[in-house]
Amino acid sequence: MDVVVCGGGPAGIAAAIACARQGARARLIELHGSLGGVWTTGALSWIIDSADKPGIMAEITSRLDARDARRLRASEGKNYAYDVEEMKLLLDEMCVEAGVDIRLLTRVVGAARDSENRLSVVITESKSGREAWHAKAFVDATGDGDLGALCGCGFDVGHPESGDVQPMSLMALITGLQFDQIEPYVGGSMTEPKQRLFALMDEIGVSPSYGHPTLFRIRDNLFALMANHQYGVQCDDANAITEAMIRARREVHTQVAALRTLGGVWSDMRVVATGAQIGIREGRRIHGRYEVTGEDLLRGARFEDAVCRVTMGIDVHSTDPKKTKIVEAKPHRSQPYDIPLRALIARDVDGLLMAGRCISGDFIAHSSYRVTGNAVAMGQATGVCAARAALSDRLPHEVPWCEVKKALDVINGVTGPMVKKTGGRYIKAEQADCGTNCLH
Ligand SMILES: Cc1cc2nc3c(=O)[nH]c(=O)nc-3n(C[C@H](O)[C@H](O)[C@H](O)COP(=O)(O)OP(=O)(O)OC[C@H]3O[C@@H](n4cnc5c(N)ncnc54)[C@H](O)[C@@H]3O)c2cc1C
Repeated sequence: MDVVVCGGGPAGIAAAIACARQGARARLIELHGSLGGVWTTGALSWIIDSADKPGIMAEITSRLDARDARRLRASEGKNYAYDVEEMKLLLDEMCVEAGVDIRLLTRVVGAARDSENRLSVVITESKSGREAWHAKAFVDATGDGDLGALCGCGFDVGHPESGDVQPMSLMALITGLQFDQIEPYVGGSMTEPKQRLFALMDEIGVSPSYGHPTLFRIRDNLFALMANHQYGVQCDDANAITEAMIRARREVHTQVAALRTLGGVWSDMRVVATGAQIGIREGRRIHGRYEVTGEDLLRGARFEDAVCRVTMGIDVHSTDPKKTKIVEAKPHRSQPYDIPLRALIARDVDGLLMAGRCISGDFIAHSSYRVTGNAVAMGQATGVCAARAALSDRLPHEVPWCEVKKALDVINGVTGPMVKKTGGRYIKAEQADCGTNCLH
C-alpha cells in the first residue's frame, strides 16, 4: 500500500480521497461502522468554517445540496446543518468513487518504526483478528492522535498548566417538533435561542450541564440537540469515557422527557438517536515541524506553506464546571490565520502526517482550528503530500511545498495561480520549479 490513513472523520476521508485522486493506493482504517467521525458517528449535524474552503469541502457541500441534505439559514451566517444519514452515504460514495480501500470497524492499536525512525507498519484489531498494514506514508486522522502516540511521537494534551481538557458532549437527534412553533429556541450560531432554551430547561428543573444548549434544525421536523458537557474526561481513559457516555445519555433523555411534559409545542418531542460515540473536543496534539500558537491567531499569521485559512475564533469550552458551564474568557481576539503544512508533518517520527484536531498546535489555537471545515482542508493537504511522497519514494517532509501547492491548486480549482519568484517576478504556478527558496 502507498498510504494508510488512520481515522475516517472529516480529516481522514479528505486525506484518503485526495491521496487516491493523486493516483496513489490509499487505505482508510476506521474504528466505527460509518465514515465521518464526529459528523456521523457523533451525530454533530453542523459544519463550521467551510465557506472559504475549496476542493473537497466545497464538493461535499455541493453534493449535499444535490441530495437536498443541507440547510442554510440566512440568519445563521455561513455555517450549515446537514442530514447525518445522507452524509454517511455521501462519504461512502466519494471514497468508493476515488478508489479508496475502506476498512470499517477496525481499530489501530499499535505501530512500529524501522531502524531509520520511519513509521513502517500499523497494527489493527477487528473481527478479522490482529493485522499489520505496511505503507510508504501514514496519516494520523484519529482525532485523538492515537497513531502518533503509538509510534512514539511527542504530544501535548489539554491546558498547558493543568492538563485539563475541554468537556465532551453527546449529541442527540430529535423529532416531533414543528420549526415554526419553536423557532425562537432554534439556532446554531445565534446566542438568544440558546439563552431561551437554557432558561426554559432551568425553569422546569433540568438545568443543562452545558450553558449554551443548542437546537439545530436539520430538515422538516428533524433537529439535533447539544445540551450537555462531560467534564474532566481524557481521550485515553476508556472507563471515564464509558461513564461520561452513560451520564450524558441519561441527561439528554431526562431533558427531552422534561420538555415533553410541558405539552403544547413540546408534547411530541422524542430522542430518535444519540451519537454512537460521545463527541471528544480535545485529545492529543502531536508534535509537528511547526506548532500553531495563540500568538499566530493574535497576529493573523500568514505562511508560505499555508494549507488553509482559519476564520473560526477562539472557542474554549470551560474545563471547569464551577467557573462557568459555557466558555472561558478569550485571552485575545483572533484574526483569520493560516495553518502551515509543517504543522501537519510529525517532528519525531518520519513518514507520518497528521490532520484534523490532532495536528501540532497549542491549547488556544486548537480551540479554533479544530472545527470541521478546517479538518477537511488539512486532510486534503496531507493526502496530497502523502501521495506525492509515496509515489516518488520520498518522505513527506522531503516533498517541496511548491509541488504540494501545485497539486492543491488544481484540486482547489485555482486556475493559473501566480507565484512570486526571487526578484519580484510573478509567474504561473505550473511553471514554478522547486528552487532553493522552496519551503520543505
Ligand atoms: C461536541 C462537539 C461539538 C462540536 N461542534 C462543532 C460544530 O458545531 N461544527 C464543527 O464544524 N465542528 C464542531 N466540533 C469540532 C469537530 O467536530 C472536530 O474537531 C472534528 O470532528 C475534527 O475532525 P477529525 O477528523 O480530526 O476528528 P473526528 O471527527 O473525531 O474523527 C476521527 C475518526 O477517527 C476514528 N478513530 C479514532 N481512533 C481510532 C483508532 N485508534 N483506530 C481507527 N480509527 C480511529 C474515529 O472513530 C473517527 O471516525 C465539535 C466537536 C465536538 C466534540
